[in-house]
Amino acid sequence: METYDFAVIGAGGSGLAAAMYGARLGMKTVIFGTTNGSELPVGGLITTTHIVENYPGFKSISGVDLAKKIEDHARHYPLVDIKNEKVEQIKKKGNCFFLKTNKTEYKAGAILFATGRRVRKLEVPGSKEYENKGVHYCALCDGPLYKEKVLAVVGGSDSAAVEALILSEYAKKVYIIYRGEKIRAEPVTLDKIENNKKIQVITNTIIKEVKGKEFVEKIILDKPYKGSKELILDGVYVAIGNEPINELAKELGLRMNDKGEIIINHMNSSTNISGVYAAGDITDKKFKQLITGVAEGVTAAHSAYEYLGEKKLKSCKKS
Ligand SMILES: Cc1cc2nc3c(=O)[nH]c(=O)nc-3n(C[C@H](O)[C@H](O)[C@H](O)COP(=O)(O)OP(=O)(O)OC[C@H]3O[C@@H](n4cnc5c(N)ncnc54)[C@H](O)[C@@H]3O)c2cc1C
Repeated sequence: METYDFAVIGAGGSGLAAAMYGARLGMKTVIFGTTNGSELPVGGLITTTHIVENYPGFKSISGVDLAKKIEDHARHYPLVDIKNEKVEQIKKKGNCFFLKTNKTEYKAGAILFATGRRVRKLEVPGSKEYENKGVHYCALCDGPLYKEKVLAVVGGSDSAAVEALILSEYAKKVYIIYRGEKIRAEPVTLDKIENNKKIQVITNTIIKEVKGKEFVEKIILDKPYKGSKELILDGVYVAIGNEPINELAKELGLRMNDKGEIIINHMNSSTNISGVYAAGDITDKKFKQLITGVAEGVTAAHSAYEYLGEKKLKSCKKS
């Protein structure tokens, strides 16, 4: 069984930054990220973002390029091993953590949860049946399929508004359908929405059903829009939020808030279990951005280094 000082679960920006710092502090570090199935690639959620304009040092950069730069920086250190494996079980025995992946098993002296969040699915008749046949969850990934088509974005957050803006670059018409009174986009995004002639916001409205033949052809609304509850379109993009990927953390006994986010000490990214840290979108911090996740990741690496040093657990080789 391979043994590491520091094991990072989740190879998004927060985890990669932690791994990079871990190696700089002399810790043999493994980081797990998955590329198969519905999981995000190495680089994580930011890879689904069109343009990032708020990461210091880059006035404007695509999410994919920024993620690649962070990944390359982590790979630069020989002490970092990036494994395209999914962690399926974690157990603590004595001072050691035992991690089982879909391929093999590992041992580590300290661990970091940087597992991020998964998108919340639209749960109405037809939404599952038409997934990838007109029902989508990532405008950047699938938007180019809908040149000159009619689309709807479901949701009212800033992310939903950004999705609509991305889609408007391809589609001829984009509806934003939101159950609330007013969409909750940031002022700068709202301004772009209001000045975009292709985008139409429909508020106080819920999607009841997705219908079609081989592909989506229409949606059924709970109240009429322009006299009809049927809205004819070619695709629906769902942006109704996300939830923490916390199953492994729960099993291990980490303390969580009522949203299922890992409660950390914001001074040092530690959790209620010694040797376990958390960083990024999985934690209970309010402002979830790449830069705040990166900050928690590197803080966690430093805390793990101090923890291993103090307790002389490096590599937990003897257990
Ligand atoms: C539409 C949109 C636009 C955004 N725009 C910006 C922006 O402009 N600027 C900004 O700073 N932030 C932005 N964000 C937020 C930013 O993307 C996130 O805050 C950040 O990417 C979180 O990084 P993370 O490493 O914590 O989690 P993630 O990037 O979600 O990474 C977690 C990784 O862990 C993996 N994982 C989970 N469980 C396991 C397991 N058991 N085994 C192995 N791997 C596992 C996942 O597959 C994933 O790759 C945006 C978010 C969205 C949705």
